[in-house]
Amino acid sequence: MYTRLPHSPSGIGIALVSAAALLCLVATTRLRTMLDLWLGVAMLAGLGDIVITLAANSRFSIGWYVARVASVLASSTVLGVLIWEISHLYRELHTANARLSEFAARDGLTGLYNRRYFDERYPEALARAQASAYPLSLMMVDIDHFKRFNDTLGHLRGDDTLTAVATVLQSSLRRSGDFIARFGGEEFVVVLPDCGAQMASQLAERLRVAVVQRGVAAPFTPAGRVTVSVGIATTLNSELAAPDVLLAQADAALYRAKEAGRNRVAA
Ligand code: GH3
Ligand code: MG
Ligand code: MG
Repeated sequence: MYTRLPHSPSGIGIALVSAAALLCLVATTRLRTMLDLWLGVAMLAGLGDIVITLAANSRFSIGWYVARVASVLASSTVLGVLIWEISHLYRELHTANARLSEFAARDGLTGLYNRRYFDERYPEALARAQASAYPLSLMMVDIDHFKRFNDTLGHLRGDDTLTAVATVLQSSLRRSGDFIARFGGEEFVVVLPDCGAQMASQLAERLRVAVVQRGVAAPFTPAGRVTVSVGIATTLNSELAAPDVLLAQADAALYRAKEAGRNRVAA
């Protein structure tokens, strides 16, 4: 039976179908991906297997064994490449996903975290602080007389200044749990977990001075350079502090700093 196989129509038929499948693969995929390439190699090996088996003319001959080994090697290689390809794709997907999340959380102009990120993370940070019974301080930072700056020097210079101020503020934060976000327009918000009122005031003063020292000229304002006002609110105990309440308190403090003459901190 086996020795009749090489001359039977079914043996030749199988060989032809395998060859056609290989041609089909090459024509449709052009072997562009690693997987297609190795699938092509495996199909070629399969075709070789069929030809050798048919030519061997008998079972358990050398040709027959060579065909078996080639077949096992080829299918194992394809399986290995398949696994490698899939895990490579997963890694790429993971990296792209992380990049996308980071991109979605950033403000396009200043590179700081955006309002969306703040709205998501601030209530979480506050809830953690309340659960662990440590204080949390919130700062609203607003550039003084920024409308005048824009009106006089133009929006592009305004944009550069916003970015410069954002960089100064960001680089003045040292603790890993602190974060700053662009709240909107020329306002920034700083979240300081485990930071009491006194420490927050010192930090706010440091931010204010750092912006003054950055020395962006603004000749038409009282200070002659770009300044910021800062409002601070701190959770006193775990009962206080719904997220909106603390935010409103920081905003009210900022308003007082503006009323008192700007370029200052109010708590
Ligand atoms: P105050 O000291 O009371 O804060 O005065 P101000 O002029 O800074 O405040 P106001 O709210 O009147 O004006 C804010 C200005 O910020 C208005 C707008 O032109 C400017 N602004 C907001 N977003 C941007 C931005 O993305 N780029 C630029 N260049 N300007 C912006
Ligand atoms: Mg302003
Ligand atoms: Mg403002």
